[in-house]
Amino acid sequence: MASLKQVWEWRGLVRGAHPRPRLVKTRISGPMMPRTVCQVAKIEETVSLEEELVRLRRENELLRKQLALYQQASPTTPDAAVTSASRAAGGPEAVVEVLERPLPKTVKEVGVDGGILWPTPGERFWERAPRSAPAPLEGGTEQQRPQERDLNTLHVVHITAEMAPIAKVGGLGDVVTGLAKAAQARGHFVTVMLPFYESLPVDQIEDLKHEMDVEVPKGYRWDGEMRVGPLRTSVFWGRVQGCPVYLLRPAEETSSSIFRGGKIYGGSYNEMEAYLYFCRACLEYLQVSNQHPHILQLHDWHAAAAALLFWEVYNPGAVNSRTRVMLTIHNMDNTGECRQDEFSFTGMPGEPFASIDKALDERTIGHNPERLNLMKGGIVYSNAITTVSPTYANEVLNGGAAGWLRSTFARPELRSKFYGILNGIDIEEWDPATDPLLPANYDAERPGGKALCKKFLQQGLGLAVDEHKPLVAVVSRLVPQKGIHLIKAALFRTVERGGQFVLLGSGHSDPVFRSLADGQFKDHPDCRLKIMYSERLAHQIYAAADVVVVPSMFEPCGLTQMIALRYGAVPVVRRTGGLADTVFDVDGSGAAPTGSRNGFTFDGADDGSLHGALDRALQLYEQQPSRWSSLSRENMRLDVSWAKSAKSYVDVYRSIAAA
Ligand code: ADP
Repeated sequence: MASLKQVWEWRGLVRGAHPRPRLVKTRISGPMMPRTVCQVAKIEETVSLEEELVRLRRENELLRKQLALYQQASPTTPDAAVTSASRAAGGPEAVVEVLERPLPKTVKEVGVDGGILWPTPGERFWERAPRSAPAPLEGGTEQQRPQERDLNTLHVVHITAEMAPIAKVGGLGDVVTGLAKAAQARGHFVTVMLPFYESLPVDQIEDLKHEMDVEVPKGYRWDGEMRVGPLRTSVFWGRVQGCPVYLLRPAEETSSSIFRGGKIYGGSYNEMEAYLYFCRACLEYLQVSNQHPHILQLHDWHAAAAALLFWEVYNPGAVNSRTRVMLTIHNMDNTGECRQDEFSFTGMPGEPFASIDKALDERTIGHNPERLNLMKGGIVYSNAITTVSPTYANEVLNGGAAGWLRSTFARPELRSKFYGILNGIDIEEWDPATDPLLPANYDAERPGGKALCKKFLQQGLGLAVDEHKPLVAVVSRLVPQKGIHLIKAALFRTVERGGQFVLLGSGHSDPVFRSLADGQFKDHPDCRLKIMYSERLAHQIYAAADVVVVPSMFEPCGLTQMIALRYGAVPVVRRTGGLADTVFDVDGSGAAPTGSRNGFTFDGADDGSLHGALDRALQLYEQQPSRWSSLSRENMRLDVSWAKSAKSYVDVYRSIAAA
């Protein structure tokens, strides 16, 4: 009898980093299929795996001997915490034990168990290409909710330093792409303007083409003085995940080093100069190409100067402009402090903005020279200001989050145009049911794949493979904001309680974890600290994790806790900013605003506060497995999409759009 099988056809596999799978139904006649090239390859793979297993057995025997010698020489290990944790996990013996497990015999067990090619020891498994044919979940993936569409659609242009996945460093990149796609899906015409960093993976930009060159006014230092002259700028156009993008950089022949180098930030050029020039270049291009969007949405300090330039250079007196400007603040921590003469990199002097009611940085009053604060200028010159969660907005207005901009936010006319709109996540990009980066897919109704993802990660990272150990994860930039001491406390507590801890992170506070990774926790069966950035490994960690810890000192919104929910992990978070708007303590009382109590929260900034919440999570995991698994499944069902938030953004767009 003919069988009906769903196979995946990939669109844009060559062009896109995260191609969207398109499900098509194909009839495949049975019962016996001829042996395919793929099957032959799998058998060959199995043969070589079996050879690899023989080699590993030999290596293991050697390790066992070395271990015995080592134990004779030093019967105790120096660190008590590690000793007890190590004992709880079976100590170094556990490593040997893992390798000693009965070895799989059949093709099914070795290579294609559940369609999974299990990682081999030492393999950088996260560097594997995304699976080209993920096993579809039986019964198909979730039904798409009907898309709400707006009437009287708007033209929105984002100016930003980041855009996921091509130029992502943190949440800013995710938010720009997620919001742009969500507004686009509602029917609005959305474009993104992004620096054409040399490091961009151009193969992930569809239909990339050179649009035009524009002469952009720009300041230069010449004989110790600032002079203004044109900088020839190339504008390119392409699509990223279906969203139109303009990419700008100095033209090849200019020999300018702006946006050159191997990464997004931290190139050899002056960052302030680069983003001031970028703001001017975006506005110049919009003018030359005769584009008059309804909304210019500027993201963070990098783009804030565009608000000043828009109203002072391109629309002085604000006559006849249909464009309105919105500044979105993703983080008040970095506000862009700029010397007045540096502002001339925009081709416009800084002095006209150096007053208390405009962009003067109040910290520098009386200093020589007094400086400008680009974020403040952006706030003053924008028609609306948004930040990325209601609680953070409240912390900015009434708590300490505004920092030096406290008195700016005390101005009633600015407070009244300030909104907190909770971020969402891109639920197509972050979907455990279709994610091609996962070894197995799953969802709330068919959660079995999550256990396979956990086993895959444990095996891949060389941890003890044990489905019963709670796997606690942190995926984070490693900077003081993220609560470095609490991440460390979570590590020690987890291992001490017999759980497993995985960290994926990078940033200037990483030395503390590097030294733990190379010292105390080197080759530990229950701890792996990966000090690096890897989008692919991040997906695999969220899928494998039982618990995701986000102990930030402050957090404008935070995306990791929402990704964790989507992937069926339980977040343990410090109750600040957007974390307080998205995670509600399981042991709390009353209905959660989002309808579901989904994690564990704490308030203090000390180790004890974190321990309290983490212990409660681990206790629930250990003592009430069925309650834990329904919590995990409930979390997967929560709506963490952009749907609601995109609507809120559109409401603000409309409230400021010209009549
Ligand atoms: P922030 O923007 O302050 O860094 P968010 O929680 O808003 O924090 O967003 C962080 C985003 O960056 C998430 O998508 C997270 O998965 C990702 N991320 C953070 N660190 C890493 C890393 N080392 N490797 C891969 N992804 C990371």
